[in-house]
Amino acid sequence: MFKENLYKGKTIIVTGGGTGLGKAMAGRLSELGANIAIVSRRQNVLDETALEISTKTGNTVLPVACDIRKPPEIDNMVAVVAKQFGKINGLINNAAGNFICPTEDLTPGGFKVVVDIVLNGTFNVTQAVGKHMRENDGGSILNIVTTYAWTGSGYVVPSAAAKAGVLALTRSLAVEWAKDGIRSNAIAPGPFPTEGAWSRLVPPGLGIERAMKNRVPLKRFGELHELANLVAYIMSDEAGYINGEVVTIDGGEWLKGAGEFNSLDKIPRVAWKGLKAIRKGKKKD
Ligand code: NAP
Repeated sequence: MFKENLYKGKTIIVTGGGTGLGKAMAGRLSELGANIAIVSRRQNVLDETALEISTKTGNTVLPVACDIRKPPEIDNMVAVVAKQFGKINGLINNAAGNFICPTEDLTPGGFKVVVDIVLNGTFNVTQAVGKHMRENDGGSILNIVTTYAWTGSGYVVPSAAAKAGVLALTRSLAVEWAKDGIRSNAIAPGPFPTEGAWSRLVPPGLGIERAMKNRVPLKRFGELHELANLVAYIMSDEAGYINGEVVTIDGGEWLKGAGEFNSLDKIPRVAWKGLKAIRKGKKKD
């Protein structure tokens, strides 16, 4: 689908790149020739993932421990990556925290911890890497949001509020930083089973997983390679005119909930025939 070595000589930072979707994106970009830096708090997880990816692709993956809530750690991370690879061409803001909770039971601390990672953390990394990009002829920033960034969602209110903020950040910087050669886009994934997301958001035994799958018009969850290939396109120079966009990859899930008559797909074909006959009968009256 992509030419070999599409990313040769490019350097991309992936926050939360040690696990789940971040690991899949880092792996695909490395496969396409990129130098990758994966960033999160747990050094042992990063080390394992970096070894796994670089062994498979033969390209360098640099594991850098960094808490994106802490600007001094981010400055250090950017310096380490720049020292190793030189110019940083891309940033994927993928790290996040989330948990399900009735909003009336949320404490200010619980709200803050998610917003601090998702919104403030994304801003902190964007600010530091943006400075480097401005001084080095620009780059491409991709923020991983979610479809409830614009619909909102009960039971994950801190995450919904923070992701909506990240989406606003994406669109704002797409305009403000375009003059510096920096593109800003977002991807909104629907449900992609990962250990992190499923352990926090899909407790077993409640039938949540089945209900989630049934809500998707394509009747399945997303596959990691589908997301990784979308990322590989949007981050690349081939997508150089895409700026300020949010691309949804959810099998049609959020639109299914939005369309007023979409639940009529529960009506069987035979009932539709009956309804048609009734309608025709009424016309004759
Ligand atoms: P995940 O594996 O739990 O990924 C979250 C990552 O963020 C972890 O690698 C974690 O590593 C890192 N992280 C958390 N707090 C951090 C901090 N303070 N500083 C640095 N790194 C931090 O979950 P995932 O499913 O792959 O999610 C990845 C992204 O996709 C998230 O933005 C999520 O909102 C989005 N998303 C996922 C789905 C889905 O269905 N999976 C759907 C929509 C959107 P450490 O613990 O080592 O720090």
